[in-house]
Amino acid sequence: MKTQFTTIIEPFRIKSVEPIRMTTRAERVAKLKDAHFNLFALKSDDVLIDLLTDSGTGAMSAEQWAAIMRGDESYAGSPSYYRFKDSVQELMPFEHIIPTHQGRAAEAILVSIFGGTGKHIPNNTHFDTTRGNIEASGAQAYDLVIEEGKDPSSLFPFKGNMDLAKLEAFLEEHGDAVPIVMLTITNNAGGGQPVSLANIRAVSQLAHRFGKPFIIDSCRFAENAYFIKQREEGQQYRSIKDIVRDCFAVADGMTMSAKKDAFGNIGGWLAFNDDDLAEKARVRLIQTEGFPTYGGLAGRDLEALAQGLHEIIDEDYLKYRIRTNEYIVERLDKMGIPVVKPAGGHAVFVDAKSWLPHIDPLAYPAHTVAVKLYELGGIRSCEIGSVMFGRQTDGSEKPAAMELVRLAFPRRTYTQSHADYVVEAFEMLQAEKDSLTGFKVIKEPKLMRHFTCEFAPL
Ligand SMILES: *Cc1c(COP(=O)(O)O)cnc(C)c1O
Repeated sequence: MKTQFTTIIEPFRIKSVEPIRMTTRAERVAKLKDAHFNLFALKSDDVLIDLLTDSGTGAMSAEQWAAIMRGDESYAGSPSYYRFKDSVQELMPFEHIIPTHQGRAAEAILVSIFGGTGKHIPNNTHFDTTRGNIEASGAQAYDLVIEEGKDPSSLFPFKGNMDLAKLEAFLEEHGDAVPIVMLTITNNAGGGQPVSLANIRAVSQLAHRFGKPFIIDSCRFAENAYFIKQREEGQQYRSIKDIVRDCFAVADGMTMSAKKDAFGNIGGWLAFNDDDLAEKARVRLIQTEGFPTYGGLAGRDLEALAQGLHEIIDEDYLKYRIRTNEYIVERLDKMGIPVVKPAGGHAVFVDAKSWLPHIDPLAYPAHTVAVKLYELGGIRSCEIGSVMFGRQTDGSEKPAAMELVRLAFPRRTYTQSHADYVVEAFEMLQAEKDSLTGFKVIKEPKLMRHFTCEFAPL
């Protein structure tokens, strides 16, 4: 007798829909040529299922749309700011909450305070905009994730953890040249893998022992907390909110992209406890973003985020969210397609280096998969490999640690049948993969080339 459900349903129903425009394979072949094989250059209405990013692409709730009507557009002291600030402080108990138009603006302000030539900034893995901001200031960015985090097949539960021995050695070696210690939760560039609460606390202790502020890049804090609840000894019976608060209680500041775990289409913030740091940040904010009670945002955006932060810690939502990725990872794994395991929080990562060993890393196997996936199914994904990280600051090119294809799921946007369609596209790709030959870059900018560079097939 059946007494338990095994189907995890989307914990929402749909009030408003956006049609998907269907395209043929022949049309998509032409679109790829027009885009010089860079998926960022596609028009999004030529995409059937857009898994390029989970950033700002989620569906807002009815309550968020209602909150938008409450938006107060006063230049200074808007009640929308105070609702936003209270919502943030309920989860992240920092003194100073400084809104920005998105995460990278918060990073730019952070780096304007702490970056500069000769500085060395460690992280588990810097995200591309974080690295870009640091390097543009003349400082150097270092990735000190644990070894398990670089092994796509390792089943270690917290593959986003910082390597504490490496961090300690790093702090001893570089001394005063290290202005801050950063930690990214979840570790986006390393497969969306979580960081344990124990590791967050240990990194904080190490940073403080060496007198360095500890800053969390917090974009997917709720997904990270859900993993802590599922996987970390002693956390099973705690609320997501309590776990989140514990994570931030040991930090001196945070950067945030509210386009991720705040259910926003735009937004971000920077937070500090220290008054002097906050003052420096606000001076910069006024120069680059706006007055401190709106940052680069409209009052209505702040309202949407204030409400979004209440919704993001809902466990039924997080369960469905994480399960979507697990489901696809299980199905691809059964087909023999190498995927990063365990499934990450916001995305499925296919290990293109193992799947297409006949393509040299500098012929971009992950980019090759992403292009083919669009051609076959109109699915847009994102390369996280040597296109994104291969170009070095000295101008040379070196293979990235991993060649990943990221299928990032917008929040509350796609359903089970969309997931099944993605799996079918991989079945087709499996049959064609041995005939693929890779790409070369024919035109690129100086920094962060993956957004705008042009490719030619080899
Ligand atoms: C998205 C992201 C950022 C940058 O935020 P934006 O809002 O896109 O500017 C920084 N760090 C991580 C880990 C991210 O995922």
